[in-house]
Amino acid sequence: MTAGRGLARVVFWSERNLLVESALAGLLALIAAGLIGAKGVPAALAAAGLCVLLAYRLWRMARRFTPRLVDQPGADRERRQLSLLLLGTVALLVGVSGGRDGRLDPLWYLLLAACGGYERRPGNLAWLLAGALLFDVSLWWAQPGRQGFALALRLAFDVAFLGISFALNRAHLLAREREVAARLGAQRARLEEEAALYRQVGKAPELPSEECREFRRLSSARELGVSAANLLQVAQAALRPHTIALFMLSPDGKTLQLKQALCEEPSLLQQGPLPAGEGMLGAVLKSGHAVSRDRLRDSSMLTYYASRPNIRTFVGVPVLEGEHRRGVLLADRRADIPFGEEDEALLLALSREVWRTFSVERLLERSDEEQQKLRLFYESSRQINRAVNQSEVLDEVLGAVRRIFGSVDFAALVLRDPPDSRQLVIRAVVAPESLSEWRERALQHALEGEDHLCALAIKSGFAVPAVPYHKVARSQRSIFGRHLTPTGLDSLKVFPLKVAATKEGRSVPGEVETLGTLVVGSTARGVFPEIGEESASSFVQETLETLADIAAMAIQSAQRFEQLLRLATTDGLTGLHNHRRFQELLEGAVAEALRYQNPLSLILCDVDHFKKVNDSYGHPTGDEVLRRVARVLSELARQSDRVCRYGGEEFAVIMPHTDAEGARVLAERFREEIREQSFDAGGQRFQVSISLGICTLPGQARHKQELIDRADQALYHAKHTGRDRVVHYADLPKDAGSPE
Ligand code: GH3
Ligand code: MG
Ligand code: MG
Repeated sequence: MTAGRGLARVVFWSERNLLVESALAGLLALIAAGLIGAKGVPAALAAAGLCVLLAYRLWRMARRFTPRLVDQPGADRERRQLSLLLLGTVALLVGVSGGRDGRLDPLWYLLLAACGGYERRPGNLAWLLAGALLFDVSLWWAQPGRQGFALALRLAFDVAFLGISFALNRAHLLAREREVAARLGAQRARLEEEAALYRQVGKAPELPSEECREFRRLSSARELGVSAANLLQVAQAALRPHTIALFMLSPDGKTLQLKQALCEEPSLLQQGPLPAGEGMLGAVLKSGHAVSRDRLRDSSMLTYYASRPNIRTFVGVPVLEGEHRRGVLLADRRADIPFGEEDEALLLALSREVWRTFSVERLLERSDEEQQKLRLFYESSRQINRAVNQSEVLDEVLGAVRRIFGSVDFAALVLRDPPDSRQLVIRAVVAPESLSEWRERALQHALEGEDHLCALAIKSGFAVPAVPYHKVARSQRSIFGRHLTPTGLDSLKVFPLKVAATKEGRSVPGEVETLGTLVVGSTARGVFPEIGEESASSFVQETLETLADIAAMAIQSAQRFEQLLRLATTDGLTGLHNHRRFQELLEGAVAEALRYQNPLSLILCDVDHFKKVNDSYGHPTGDEVLRRVARVLSELARQSDRVCRYGGEEFAVIMPHTDAEGARVLAERFREEIREQSFDAGGQRFQVSISLGICTLPGQARHKQELIDRADQALYHAKHTGRDRVVHYADLPKDAGSPE
């Protein structure tokens, strides 16, 4: 017993120690062959010991089921030990069958040639040579009538057989390696070329971008498939399983889908979706660690098979992204050969590699997407900046939001109206079909109260809500006030439209004013994820914030531009179009009238004896009279008429589609209404009258200047024939010339 245990201990110890095992094998071989004096029972025992050792080594290798991967350090040691054991055994056989002159002697050289050819490392070859020489010297020693020359010859043969077969095999291997390296190099160059084509947008300008992205997606999926398949092949070579498969979790974590598998009976495998919580796959996902089972009797736990194959061992490891579980990599066998710790470690390493490949591809895909969005973003901001008037700016901003973020189907702009007031008005909306009725109702409506997200965004100066909209308490989901909040939106963000504050036309450093809000939303959930929930979320948020800033600046400059335009074309005292604007309006009206052969009348009117008003009641009263006359003319004029201040106390009314008769009627009403007006100057009441001259296209004039001149002549005539009257150019007596 003790001897047996001792031997077992030596065997196990020698498992780690080549020198001892080889020495032991050599010693046993020598004793067994009777070469160092032992005969009978000791020799038989030694032979048995040697057999045990050989059997043990072969059993160890068979148990491992497959030889280790060629390049692992353990594989070298095993090869070395096996070769030495075989040499010992053959030396024994040669020894007992008559020594070097016996029949089995050629076996020795055969084995040397085989070992030399099988060996890959020069270091190992030295060990083999040492062992062979030792055995050969022993055999020679046991030989009766031994000669030094014979030993030298044999040793030379040993060296030659081992060396030549090793050298030949090495040469062959090197040639193969070079060939494979050349093939791999060519393949890599091709892949890099493809990658450059698909990944760098700038390198494929001839492809329409949509097509380019589709290509990129396909090639990305293909690359993923290829790398996963490569990884599984490595696992298959190492583990010799019945099946090795990769299942990935769906984004909601509820189901598993087969991504890649190598299986002896592929038709048995389920493609999925499989419930993620069930069977061995569920156990792996739940534990987050490697799970293995031996001697399985009931294969119902193996939910990834459609029918029940006779599987005896299973090992599965989770595919992890940090703490998060993303899938399961599994292997199983029909044979009762359990998966060891090393196998688990190998699978875990492969699962990490699988995830790394997936995440690199995802990153590339995401950066492609972001690149595309950025391109759209720059294009859109240029378009926004190009828009001149405010309504164009609003349309461009909402269009840009929709273009850049396909998942955003609701967008609105809320602006202070008038610009420096507190009142907020919904000025532009794009909304899905389901909200078209709401859109009609809400557009141009003022927001009620301060208890809504728009007011909150303006007050805080930040995008609100901070958390996803569906997580906000129902009572706080009011976007535009209680009566105007649309229903059916599941994602929402409100961005304040901030610009640098200005005072007297100059910006005040450090101070901001808010023009309103940009509201973006979607009927889908999770369009604006919580920061940290998804790394893409900060990109969405930042892009929209920048877009809101650009929109704010564009809206501000459109508002300023419109204000300047108003100032440049409006008369400060009366609020009517000024003389410059009058000329522009008349130009347009005349051109249109001539093109479409429509009548067009122009009335020029002048306050009678206005100088006296100024002289008697003062300039401010004179101003008041001018304002009142302007108001009366504007009120009586029709929608299509344009009332302008022509000069000091002279007014002009452009009347499209109006013939001489129509103009005369309206002019009379002007005159009468002014006559009716009563003015008050410090308790003194007085009245004024106006004289009016009319000219009409196309009968009485051929172009703009003629129209003005002739209306003026008619007015002159009205003045000279008593004032407080209407005169049409057509009514002028032939001899009534110009005032000159
Ligand atoms: P009539 O047209 O009937 O011939 O006499 P009038 O007194 O109206 O004639 P005139 O055109 O000589 O006088 C126009 C006066 O209107 C001269 C000018 O001081 C005054 N005036 C012009 N612009 C303004 C203004 O903006 N405010 C005031 N208060 N007076 C103005
Ligand atoms: Mg005048
Ligand atoms: Mg006058």
